[in-house]
Amino acid sequence: MLNIFNTLTHKKEKFKPNIKNNINIYVCGVTVYDLCHLGHARTFIIFDIVYRYFVHIGYNVNYVRNITDIDDKIIDKSIINKENIHSFTKNMINNMHKDFNDLKMIKPSYEPKATNHINDIINMIGCLLDNNYAYISNNGDVMFSIDSYIDYGKLSRQKIQKLKIGSSIKLNVYKKNPLDFVLWKCLKNNKISSFIKEGASWISPWGKGRPGWHIECSAIINKYFGSNLDIHGGGSDLIFPHHENEISQSTCFNNCKYVNYWMHVGMIITQNRKMSKSYGNFLTIRELLKLYDHETIRLFIISSHYRHPIYYNKEKLFQSRLSLERLYIAMRGTKADKIIVSSSYMKLNKEIIGLEFEHSFYEAMNDDFNTPKALRVLFSLAHKINRSKLLNNDFETQKLAFKLKLLSNILGLLLQSSIDFFNNKKTRQNQSISEIENLVLLRKHARINSSWHYADYIRHKLSLLGVILEDTPEGTLWKWK
Ligand SMILES: [Zn+2]
Repeated sequence: MLNIFNTLTHKKEKFKPNIKNNINIYVCGVTVYDLCHLGHARTFIIFDIVYRYFVHIGYNVNYVRNITDIDDKIIDKSIINKENIHSFTKNMINNMHKDFNDLKMIKPSYEPKATNHINDIINMIGCLLDNNYAYISNNGDVMFSIDSYIDYGKLSRQKIQKLKIGSSIKLNVYKKNPLDFVLWKCLKNNKISSFIKEGASWISPWGKGRPGWHIECSAIINKYFGSNLDIHGGGSDLIFPHHENEISQSTCFNNCKYVNYWMHVGMIITQNRKMSKSYGNFLTIRELLKLYDHETIRLFIISSHYRHPIYYNKEKLFQSRLSLERLYIAMRGTKADKIIVSSSYMKLNKEIIGLEFEHSFYEAMNDDFNTPKALRVLFSLAHKINRSKLLNNDFETQKLAFKLKLLSNILGLLLQSSIDFFNNKKTRQNQSISEIENLVLLRKHARINSSWHYADYIRHKLSLLGVILEDTPEGTLWKWK
């Protein structure tokens, strides 16, 4: 039985879908004003695994991830680039798709853009106004009145009074309550240059303007799923105010519970603060993919539990690379090495799966997608394969290798053959090579000092990394196996 930690209740809860064997999942997507970074990679790789896992255990998954293609940052960037807003966002969306594809994420079932749902947004705002959940402020913007929703602050566990006096909330003469937020932003001429104006505003009953950010997710969810949703996900930085605001809008609009399970992915910390575009301390997915292959990045991300923060540093990525090599080394020479095990294959072949490792793997995944624990199962499998290879137990080796491949594929790992992995220049990072050079040098010193045991130990370690040594009169040469 799958248990999911629900941010709303702060408890792990048994997962029960609204409709048997079906699951509706919505994840807040990217605001497309710049290239995606490691923080995005983390959030969307986690939901990629959630998606893969649900499919694997037999669900029909309807996975929607929106694209925010209108907001202040997008308008500002278009102005700086002197580019039409449509061509700018189109280009950024293409970049995002390329990055996500390079990270081998499965495409969501639908990927709606905010600007394709302006009518849905306008209808929702109209209804909120009609029922006094919203008001038109002095400057013409339509605002949501948070005092009209009694449970405001519940998701982020904050008392409204405290929020009100918080220094981060600026007093705003246009708001009844400083926490009220914009549903419809009227066009203010000073901001938008004429050449992008057309793409950045729409006609509404409240004048020309554009939607606020929060309303697009509520409107899109209503369109695709109706009033209630199984799982809503996103980065933990969205809990407040974005998801708090979504809940208030949607609950008032539909008059029923909005989301059954809220899942939030932790941040990536670097230089003592969260990795974010606005702090300028981010590493783009592209920069990372120049240094590391996609599975190394994935393994790095899932080595921590999805709710915890990850402290980014290069050493950790290097360690992930070595860990991944261990898995590929175990696969080498086995029949399962060259195949990809699809989810349907898994369902058809339950009888060959046995229980020993699968049980621990599924137990970990069913415990709120505990990927670090699931990874440990993969490493002990790899260890057992290596031992069985040493004992020349081919039957056992093939059986275990098949299991390793199958379980790894659920996490989006071991998607290539070990030959492809080790032959791919991109997967042999500079750091990995320098590490090997260091080990070769260490072995040389050990031999000079007649520390034969230590020299043998290093040779063995290099062998596990897939390196063959050749001692020649000119020195030691090394090559990939
Ligand atoms: Zn959202």
